[in-house]
Amino acid sequence: MKEESQGDISSKNHTHCQTDRQKQEITDSQDIFARMNRIKHIILVLSGKGGVGKSTVAVNLAVTLAEAGKKVGLLDIDIHGPSIPQMLNLTKERLNITGEVLIPANYSQNLKVVSMGLLMGGRDEAVIWRGPLKMKIIKQFLKDADWGELDYLIIDSPPGTGDEPLSIAQLLPHADGAVIVTTPQEISVADVRRCINFCRKLSLKTLGVIENMSGFICPTCNTKIDIFQSGGGRKMSEEMGVPFLGSIPLDKGLVDACDSGKPYVQQFAGTETAKAFSEIIAQLTSAKTENTDISKDKSNEMKGDSQTMRIALPIANNKLCAHFGHCESFALIDVDEQNKTIEHSALIPSPGHQPGLLPPWLREHGVDLVITGGMGMKAIDLLSAQGIKVVMGASEDSPERLVQSYLEGSLVIGENICDHGEHICGHDEHSCDH
Ligand code: ADP
Repeated sequence: MKEESQGDISSKNHTHCQTDRQKQEITDSQDIFARMNRIKHIILVLSGKGGVGKSTVAVNLAVTLAEAGKKVGLLDIDIHGPSIPQMLNLTKERLNITGEVLIPANYSQNLKVVSMGLLMGGRDEAVIWRGPLKMKIIKQFLKDADWGELDYLIIDSPPGTGDEPLSIAQLLPHADGAVIVTTPQEISVADVRRCINFCRKLSLKTLGVIENMSGFICPTCNTKIDIFQSGGGRKMSEEMGVPFLGSIPLDKGLVDACDSGKPYVQQFAGTETAKAFSEIIAQLTSAKTENTDISKDKSNEMKGDSQTMRIALPIANNKLCAHFGHCESFALIDVDEQNKTIEHSALIPSPGHQPGLLPPWLREHGVDLVITGGMGMKAIDLLSAQGIKVVMGASEDSPERLVQSYLEGSLVIGENICDHGEHICGHDEHSCDH
């Protein structure tokens, strides 16, 4: 009998490990999806760099929405220096962990908070955390924090366009989009441009840009003085074709509010700066509430560009799953049909197998076409009633390869393995939707 060489064994182990890791990733994304599915609007607050007021904006956004009667969660995953507990005077609070569930701290009846700062002993501790550990914690926050039903989840993300914001955006394909905070200087505006391109690459909608520290209102004469040249954020938003949500002036009250732990919009209601926050939120929420049914809305928001077609493929073990309804997850791949390119792809967990559930669910996720191995006639009818086309008989290959072949017109189509009276999956033709 041939003995396995060391190389054989380690490569087998490696393959085995990868499979376990991939399985874990699918389970994680299913857990995250289950949590996020109970939240109507998920908004990421991003900035090209630190210190521009991203956390200040996130806090005041969350508090204003909560005061308006919305159920709000504020998730602080800017773990380089979590400042939210300080800004909300929650520094003495600690998060309760029950089994694998993380119970958010209550700032008020309508506002729940989860922050790394509520797990750590002190604010400086985050600085020594290493990349992989940070990513694990971020994932755990998304997976384990039990928010319950929320109207809004505001996420204070790490600054920049590095690995951490990238992973967060990838873990949250269900997010409504991103609000980008900048300051008026040219250099910050350049960072925001990068941020917008980053969102575009990830098919994460840019909900708008906020120019913070934009001019200074003199407390004695009430005149606005432009310390840095203001208006750069608006100009850049116009150039980039994204909404400009408004400007917030430099205001000592914001620093005092941050230090005292009482949010500005509560402490200084009615001031010019508080009005600026309200106007920004009005603009942000009116754009969102035009489609209050977020699930309906999500389809186009996720796609970002209406020219893009979204293809769904049922997946098991990272390959096309032979049976549509019994897959672990769906690959959602956005393509530019004209240029025959894949623009973005995401893996989201299947909502499960219940008769009639998948066609409307796929429609809600903006799917235009399904590529699958097999499918029953009933399911084909239900999908076409939702305006979704179906290509059947594709082989068990990687979703990206199948989609690329489809775009190039070289997709090999075999037999529809479900298209016969007695299905391999044991269902008859009338009930089978896989
Ligand atoms: P980031 O999250 O981008 O790192 P922070 O929100 O923590 O930035 O803000 C950094 C500092 O700037 C804080 O001390 C905050 O109080 C202050 N700050 C933010 N926005 C303003 C503003 N418009 N006027 C004055 N100070 C501000």
